[in-house]
Amino acid sequence: MLNIMNINNHYDSIVIGAGPAGLTAGIYLSRARLRTLIISEGTVGGQMVLTHEIANYPGVENISGYQLSNIMKKQAKTFGCDIKSNTSIQNIELESRVKSITLSEGETYTSDSIILTPGGRSRTLGVTGEDQFKGKGISYCVTCDGDFFINREIVIVGGGNSAIEEAVSLTKYASKVTIVHQLDNFSAFEHAVEEARNHPKLNFVMESAITAFYGNENLESVDIKNLKSGETTNFKTDGVFVFIGYIPNTEFLIRKVEMNKKGEIVVKADMSTNIEGVYAAGDSTAKRYRQVTTAVGDGTIAALAASNYLNETKIKNKKLIAA
Ligand SMILES: Cc1cc2nc3c(=O)[nH]c(=O)nc-3n(C[C@H](O)[C@H](O)[C@H](O)COP(=O)(O)OP(=O)(O)OC[C@H]3O[C@@H](n4cnc5c(N)ncnc54)[C@H](O)[C@@H]3O)c2cc1C
Repeated sequence: MLNIMNINNHYDSIVIGAGPAGLTAGIYLSRARLRTLIISEGTVGGQMVLTHEIANYPGVENISGYQLSNIMKKQAKTFGCDIKSNTSIQNIELESRVKSITLSEGETYTSDSIILTPGGRSRTLGVTGEDQFKGKGISYCVTCDGDFFINREIVIVGGGNSAIEEAVSLTKYASKVTIVHQLDNFSAFEHAVEEARNHPKLNFVMESAITAFYGNENLESVDIKNLKSGETTNFKTDGVFVFIGYIPNTEFLIRKVEMNKKGEIVVKADMSTNIEGVYAAGDSTAKRYRQVTTAVGDGTIAALAASNYLNETKIKNKKLIAA
């Protein structure tokens, strides 16, 4: 490790990911005068930049995800945080006391602690028109976008707990909700399915799948294929919510840190992982609610816990040297 340690490339803490969790960790760490580097594969902001309007971030009535990202980035930089975005990690070593990260350009960075915040992505249908109408009628988050569909007719895709629970929750806004599911039964909890089945605003199209999205500026209709008969019908709708699963961006961490079956990083209450000096925060961790506010909260806790770890390690090392 010593021969790859270059003092200019050594940090107190390296944060992987520049979404709200990573940027918050960067703000707290650098404000605590810890030398901090954020490394991110994509642009700064993470999933926030995909969000046209964020209306549920406390203290800000309405802001675009892009604007909020820029404010967080500016805050982190003001406190001295270095940021390397649009790069990719070739190798990451977390086990030893000094952690190391090699980028695909060949540069290696080392640190005494790491905060993992690579976020995640919703599973998509992968059919014609989905990319075009994302954020223009197609959504993957009811908490984020539900109230854009007041008194509208919408479709939900999926058959698990999220799909069923979110379908019921969408009835607060929408005038009619149609659930499209590829099987003839649901995998959600029985009591949730029963509640949905008895709801006057909910309709069911079973053994069917959306095969295409259509519209002009915004989504206007979808093709729904009956998987049994093969017949396709065009269905008018104002919006479609897709709930067919969530994929954490943790492929590069397989066998490097403890994860659950879903590939989510397992963390304790202080956001520490199973490896000393390694913390994780935000959507990539094992948790139920994924929002900007929860990512920011996780990032804060991880940064404070990492600062504490760094202080304690310094004190321990001083004692060892003195002894
Ligand atoms: C369309 C949409 C609308 C939304 N609307 C809202 C809303 O209105 N309100 C709300 O509260 N929440 C909303 N959300 C959810 C919110 O954006 C997320 O919960 C939040 O961004 C998660 O933050 P994060 O920092 O954990 O991860 P992310 O925002 O996903 O950021 C992860 C970061 O890690 C980087 N990264 C990924 N893999 C690697 C790797 N291998 N190496 C290095 N870097 C990597 C990414 O490039 C990115 O910078 C929305 C999400 C979407 C998709």
